[in-house]
Amino acid sequence: MKRNLLLTPGPSKVPVELCEVLGKPIIHHRTPQFQLVLKEVAEGLRKVIGTSSDVYLLASSGTGAMEAAVANLVSPGEKAITFEYGKFGERWASLIKAYKATPIVCKVAWGGAVTVDDVKKALMENPDAKAVFLTHCETSTAVAPDLAAIGAYMKTTKAVLVVDGVSALGTEPLKMDDWGVDVYCSGSHKGLMLPPGVGIVAVSIKAIAMIDISTNVRFYFDLRKAKKALAETDTPFTPAIGIVIALNEAVKMLLAEGLDKKQEYYLKMAKAVWAAAEAIGLKVYAQPAFRSRALTAILIPEALNPKKIVKTMRDVHGITMAGGQGELDGKIVRIAHMGAVDEYDVLTGLSCLEKVLKESGHKFELGASLAAAQKVFNG
Ligand SMILES: *Cc1c(COP(=O)(O)O)cnc(C)c1O
Repeated sequence: MKRNLLLTPGPSKVPVELCEVLGKPIIHHRTPQFQLVLKEVAEGLRKVIGTSSDVYLLASSGTGAMEAAVANLVSPGEKAITFEYGKFGERWASLIKAYKATPIVCKVAWGGAVTVDDVKKALMENPDAKAVFLTHCETSTAVAPDLAAIGAYMKTTKAVLVVDGVSALGTEPLKMDDWGVDVYCSGSHKGLMLPPGVGIVAVSIKAIAMIDISTNVRFYFDLRKAKKALAETDTPFTPAIGIVIALNEAVKMLLAEGLDKKQEYYLKMAKAVWAAAEAIGLKVYAQPAFRSRALTAILIPEALNPKKIVKTMRDVHGITMAGGQGELDGKIVRIAHMGAVDEYDVLTGLSCLEKVLKESGHKFELGASLAAAQKVFNG
């Protein structure tokens, strides 16, 4: 059977232990058994996110968690600031518009990321903005801003800081309460190593106060309902039962290994991939100061046909990486090193990339990327 290695930034590889949990017969959600799961998973996620506040689980993909944030925080006619440094940043502005509020869109050149000075400037120019929306790991460009610095400033303002952490959670360091993040949105299918189906929204006390006075229409994604249910260790609607049960196990695995240790390991995998790319004459797309731990975007000369490279790796060799989106369409290959991906997955992916690059006519010494990566892993 052909291998099916997912080195994509969502869904990502699901480890065997979790496949086994996912394969179990379903249980009913209004039972003491499931309540225990809900209680444990909430506690575990609080540790992963770094908050003592509420964490809501929605039956949705990551975008559902983002929609919940917008629908509950920003009322029609209000202003909210968004930062765009890739494709996912644009989603915040689209959501804000869909809910009849006004996005103030601040563009940052792709390859870089928002800085605390950018946030200060935007809020000074728009003191009436209710919220700042940004992306923790911008998956389309593989960058991550200094969220701690931005959050520290946001703590001194009235506006709330809302973060798309769909691809970052578990992989990028995060201390929501200490850093001053008010709403953190994520999903089950990236750093948390599961299939899609659970949207995650963590909310600070400051955000809860705003949710209570928002005048927006909302029903399924009404976080007031989620809050009430959570207090009773329940969910307002049928949850994605099987994935929630597996999420509980995934979070336990992550915490048992140690969050800090795991996140150091993701950084090591990232550094290995950066070194690997350079060793075969390719450039890493993201500016060095903003490179994420969760994935790497490698620039591929257009003459080598990056789209075809991705397709060949997937269809012929069973190794799936991602191509580019938006202005990077047909220009990059993205390798995820998040969740359950380990160094041998990365080395397998790199050896496949070498093979296909060679076939496409790229000139380099075979094995050079593997040697460079191995040096990082074993250095
Ligand atoms: C994957 C991703 C999303 C969207 O998640 P869906 O689950 O496809 O809705 C949003 N933001 C970022 C940064 C992502 O990586």
